[in-house]
Amino acid sequence: MPLYDYRCSACGHPFEALVRHGATPACPRCASTELEKTVSLVAPLGKIEAIRLSNRRAAAAQGHLDHYSPSDKAKLLQGKKNI
Ligand SMILES: [Zn+2]
Repeated sequence: MPLYDYRCSACGHPFEALVRHGATPACPRCASTELEKTVSLVAPLGKIEAIRLSNRRAAAAQGHLDHYSPSDKAKLLQGKKNI
């Protein structure tokens, strides 16, 4: 069963509902079936982008380590582990 994000057109209450194909969920607050299906992909895509950016930042940070000597690099890495 797919999970959908809905927003109630009657009271504006946002909620997620597991919906069997062809079934219509009702608002848990006011029981209205006047619902807008919101685009549930927005949040996961945002998360993926955030993960990609943090990975890119980590790669850049590792790239910067190439400017240090091996012993300094080890110290820096150890310092990072302690944080
Ligand atoms: Zn409602």
